[in-house]
Amino acid sequence: MVYGVDKWGKGLIVVTDEGDIGLRNPLAPDAPAVSLPGILSDLDERGIKSPMVLRVSSYLEHEIAHINESFASAITRTGYKGDYRGVFPIKVNQQAQVIDRIVEFGHKYNYGLEAGSKPELVIALAHRLAKEALIVCNGVKDAEFIQLAILSRKLGFNTVIVLESPKEADTVIEVYKELGIEPLLGVRVKLTNQISGKWEESSGDRSAFGMNTDQLVAVVDKLRDAGLLQCLKLQHSHLGSQVQDVNDVRRAVGEACRYYTELTAEGVPLTHLDLGGGMGVDYTGEKKAAENSINYTVEEYCANVVETVSYAMDEAEVAHPTIVTESGRAVVATSSMLVFNVLESTLYDAPSAPEVAPDDNHLISDLAAVGGYLNAERLQECWNDATFYRNELRALFRRGYIDLRQMARGERIYLNLMARIKALVAAQKGETDVDDQLEKLADIYHCNFSLFQSLPDVWAIDQLHPIVPLQMLNQTPDRRAVLSDITCDSDGKVDKFILADGVSPSLPVHSLPEDQPYHLGVFFVGAYQETLGDLHNLFGDTNVVTIDLRADGGFDLLHEQEGDTISQVMSYVEFDPTDCVAAFRKLVDGAISAGTLKASERKLIIGAYRDSINGYTYYE
Ligand code: PLP
Repeated sequence: MVYGVDKWGKGLIVVTDEGDIGLRNPLAPDAPAVSLPGILSDLDERGIKSPMVLRVSSYLEHEIAHINESFASAITRTGYKGDYRGVFPIKVNQQAQVIDRIVEFGHKYNYGLEAGSKPELVIALAHRLAKEALIVCNGVKDAEFIQLAILSRKLGFNTVIVLESPKEADTVIEVYKELGIEPLLGVRVKLTNQISGKWEESSGDRSAFGMNTDQLVAVVDKLRDAGLLQCLKLQHSHLGSQVQDVNDVRRAVGEACRYYTELTAEGVPLTHLDLGGGMGVDYTGEKKAAENSINYTVEEYCANVVETVSYAMDEAEVAHPTIVTESGRAVVATSSMLVFNVLESTLYDAPSAPEVAPDDNHLISDLAAVGGYLNAERLQECWNDATFYRNELRALFRRGYIDLRQMARGERIYLNLMARIKALVAAQKGETDVDDQLEKLADIYHCNFSLFQSLPDVWAIDQLHPIVPLQMLNQTPDRRAVLSDITCDSDGKVDKFILADGVSPSLPVHSLPEDQPYHLGVFFVGAYQETLGDLHNLFGDTNVVTIDLRADGGFDLLHEQEGDTISQVMSYVEFDPTDCVAAFRKLVDGAISAGTLKASERKLIIGAYRDSINGYTYYE
C-alpha cells in the first residue's frame, strides 16, 4: 500500500475492503471500521460540507485512557509508591468541545488542566474537575492571575502557581499578604540537558522559561523568609515538544530528580514532580528518533519516567512523589483530521499531441521529432532534447518571432512527450535516469482549504502529517500531485508527503473522477493547528464536526460548529459588516443615479453582496 496507512495509522485509520479510508473504534475493537467518505456523504446530506475538521471523540477518550492506564500499570509493575496525575495543557487545543470532553473523559483518572495564561486559567476554572485533579499555572503571571489562582482554592480547586522567576515569587508574596490565603506553589527549573529536534530551544541553558540554580535558591529563601515555604509542593520542568528520543526523556527526568532531591534536602516539602509535556506522536510511523517520528511507545515513555524517578528517589532516600505530566500533543493530535475536496487539477502532461502545421517554426518539427526516437533506453536524452526545443520556442515567443497558437502547439507537443516519458518510466521495473526530474511533472491539485488556517505548522516548521485520498484506494493511483491551497499565496502548498517507503515530494493520486468528489484527508491535526491558524486571505475557521464511533460500526454526530462566515472574518479585521453593506448600497444607488446600473438590478446586486457576506469563506 503506497500510502503506508498500516504504518502510521495506529490501527485507528485503516483502508476498508471497498478502498475507502476507514475509522476503527479503539473502544470497540471488534466493530467494523466506519468509512470516512461514508461519514462525509452522510454529513453532506445534513448540509455540512467540507472543508471541515472532523473530531473523533472516541479517539480522545482512547488516548486519555491509554496514557493514564499506561502510567498506572508502570507504577504497579515498578512498585512505585506515588501516584500519577496528568494535566492537559489547554494551549494545545483550546476549543470548548475538546476541553469539555477531556475533562469528562479524564474525570475518573483525576485528570486536570494546565493553564499557560490568564484566559486559559479562566477556562480551566469553568470546569468541574475531579477532587484530586490539578490545575497547573505556567507562564508569566501578573497579580490578577495570581489572585484568581489563589482564590480558586476556596472553591476546592488544586490550583498550583508555578513560579517562573524570583520576581514572580515577590508578586505571590504580595498577593498572599493582601488575601491572607495560602497559595499552592510550584517552581519551574531550567534543565541543562537539551533535547534534539525542532523544539530543542525549549530546553537547555538558553530556554526562555524556568530558573537556574542561583534563582532557585533565591526563591526558596524568599519563600522561607515570607513563611510560605510549606506551600511549595511542586517542581516543574518542560523539555520541549515532540521529544524524538526516549533517552532524552530519561536524561531529563534524571536531572529533574536531582533538583527534586536537593530541594527536599533544603527542607522544601515537595510532593509533586511535574515533568511537563513532550511525549511525541509518530506522524510517519517510522518508529525512530527522527523529525516527525519517535522511537518509543506511550507504554515505554511511562515506564521510563516511572523507573527513572523511582530509582533516583530511592537512591536519595526521598519519598516517591506524585508524577505529573503535561502531555498535550500525544493526547489530542490523533483525534482530529482535516478533510477537503480537490477543486481541479493543473496537469503537466497531455494525452495527445497536435499535428505540426506546414508553416510552423522548424523548432516545433524538431520537438515533435523527439517522439520518433523516444524509448526506454533514451529517456534522459529525449527529456533533454524536448526541454531544449521547448525552451528555445519560449525564447522565440518572448521576442515576438512565433505567435500564441504556434507556442500553444509547441507546449502541447512537449507535454505529450512528457506523458509518454511518464508512461515508459511507469512500465520500467527498476529506477530510471529521469526519476528525480519526474517530480517537476507532478500535477498541481487545487484543494479547498487554507494551509495557513488549518495546517500552520506545515507552513511554519515543515511539520509532516499523513495525507491520503479518502476513496478509490483499491485502484492504483495513476498520477502524482503536489497540493495547492485556496489562498493566493504561493507558499500555500504541500509538497512533502509521508509514503510507505519514505517522504516524497509528490503524492500518488487518482485522476479526478468526473461524477463524484475527490476528498483528501490530513491526519493527526488535533494538536496546536486549530488555534495557531491565521486568517490569510481571510479564510476563516472551517466547519468542525465532532463524532463518536459506535460499537455497531456507525457514528453519532455529537456537535457541529459552523465555520466562520465572511461577516465574522471581516469583523476580526475591524470591518463592520453592517457598515460595509451600507457603503455598498450607497455605491449601488450612486451607479443608478449615474445611469450605469438599472434600478431593477438593485435588488439582485445587493442580494448577491448580502449572500456573500453571510456565506462560508471557502469554495462552496
Ligand atoms: N507544558 C508546557 C509548559 C509547554 O510549554 C508545552 C508545550 O510546549 C506543553 C506542556 C505541551 O507539550 P506537548 O504538546 O509536547 O506534550
